Amino acid sequence: MSILDIRVLGDPVLRRPTTPVTEVTDELRRLIANMYETMYAAEGIGLAAPQVGRSDRLAVVDVEGAKYVLINPRIVSTQGPGKEIAEEGCLSIPDIYGDVERPATVTIRATDENGNEYEATGSELLGRCFQHEIDHLDGKLFIDYLSPLKRKAALSKWEKAKGEYPGSIRKVRSEVKGEHHHETEM
Ligand SMILES: [Zn+2]
Repeated sequence: MSILDIRVLGDPVLRRPTTPVTEVTDELRRLIANMYETMYAAEGIGLAAPQVGRSDRLAVVDVEGAKYVLINPRIVSTQGPGKEIAEEGCLSIPDIYGDVERPATVTIRATDENGNEYEATGSELLGRCFQHEIDHLDGKLFIDYLSPLKRKAALSKWEKAKGEYPGSIRKVRSEVKGEHHHETEM
């Protein structure tokens, strides 16, 4: 297994819609294993394929031990009570956070690494993570949900920080634990 480079805001791959996976191959399973390793090294709770430069409709999630491989995921329903606002961060926009309003609970349908279709329901952080990852697969980022004023503030903070990531690439070093740690980065 290996740790992959994470693409950060500015890399066009993050805005490109993904292509559905047609077959779960060994190559795809290797990518999934590498994505988990990368996500853990970066101390995130979710990671989508575009974040490692791939346009496959694929993401991995581990929210407090609830692990899901999301191949071709889609939201099949959202449940109340209403929407919830909570802070989000993104491994592709390090150290930038913002409050995002989303449905409190969602049910998704996806395929796992063995090619089996499944349904899963997530609330709170898990439900939020499902939605954040599925957004990545549609070329959407959490900053898109911020109010114009907050988005402007986030982007001007990013303008100052992005020099740390030449070529829009974030090198993840597993030995530097805690550098960017935040439980809402995904
Ligand atoms: Zn993200």
